[in-house]
Amino acid sequence: MAGIYIHIPFCQQACYYCDFYFSTSQKLTDPVIDAICKELSLRKKYTGDEKISTIYLGGGTPSLLKPAYITRLLDAVYAYYNVITGPEVTIEANPEDISRTKLNTWEKAGINRLSLGVQSFDNKVLAYMNRVHNAGKALASLDMIRTSAFKNVNVDLIYGVLPGSHKRWEKDLEILLKYRPVHISAYNLTIEENTVFGRWARRGKLQVPDDDFSAEEYEILVSMLEHEGYLHYEISNFCLPGYESQHNSAYWKNKYYLGVGPAAHSFNHKSRQYNVSNNALYVRAIADNKIPATIEPLTRENQINDYILTSLRTMWGTSFHTIKEKWGYDLLQSNRSLIERLKAGGMCRIDAGKIVLTEKGFLLADKIASGLFVNS
Ligand code: SF4
Repeated sequence: MAGIYIHIPFCQQACYYCDFYFSTSQKLTDPVIDAICKELSLRKKYTGDEKISTIYLGGGTPSLLKPAYITRLLDAVYAYYNVITGPEVTIEANPEDISRTKLNTWEKAGINRLSLGVQSFDNKVLAYMNRVHNAGKALASLDMIRTSAFKNVNVDLIYGVLPGSHKRWEKDLEILLKYRPVHISAYNLTIEENTVFGRWARRGKLQVPDDDFSAEEYEILVSMLEHEGYLHYEISNFCLPGYESQHNSAYWKNKYYLGVGPAAHSFNHKSRQYNVSNNALYVRAIADNKIPATIEPLTRENQINDYILTSLRTMWGTSFHTIKEKWGYDLLQSNRSLIERLKAGGMCRIDAGKIVLTEKGFLLADKIASGLFVNS
């Protein structure tokens, strides 16, 4: 099974923390959508014999698009790929774009999962991050979604935004839990260089909470969501039983995916590919029947390390057997003393031939993963 990711590179305005590729000018919408449909036809061999089980419209802001574009993109996927019956089809949406008309047309187009970028219910936090919507709009969009056909709904939140007290974050979670979405993704604010926050930080103008403050917000998050019956299945992802994101789980489980559109990434075990992050260059290359992608071949060591990095972030953990069978490498034998120390420190457990991080270990997952990496 494989997934298809479609990157929609347009946003109404730039959030100050965001370093995804997007343009706030929508004048290239028509040519970009045409080019994505054509890229889908040009790359139909990429997924080989694998059937497509998930389709994900991300960005950028796919909910900005007129529904007719969404229908065209999905039609192109069905025309060129072998899609299973009943795939998971997700659209990322922002609160300001939610309307009855859009919800109905998305549903008719075959979308069955909605991922809503709320980020916060606090007007000060939303304005500070330069989000388009305010708290009232976030609540109104959730009310509308609640009475629509969409039941498989994710809500994104961001924590660790402003120093001070944890009251704001607790309130955000309390409000969200009243809606009880089946899936919640919560991310720690990270300051990326090429963003407004990155520039403010370089000039010493950004007030950022320290790591301890963010770690406390993470602990509040885990404890409140687990108390409400959510399963913590990936560092930043929680769901009610049976509602894991199939598309994102495939990334974490090292499965194939094809990414189309400007800046989209693809992965097929042998290489990663990165499409050019520029709408005009992308459109021009596709018009010439060329895929404007940089290809990074993956060595055996890259493949093992990728698997360790992604799988360790999940409740399924990293399987010693998988690594031995696929790459002939004995992770346990090669790292026995480190793994014993992690176990003694309450960072991990060994469970059915897997190393699985505890909540304490999740906080240091990237550091632990790099300690386990195979050196080339
Ligand atoms: S966070 Fe989302 S809406 Fe904001 S600029 Fe980035 S992609 Fe666009």
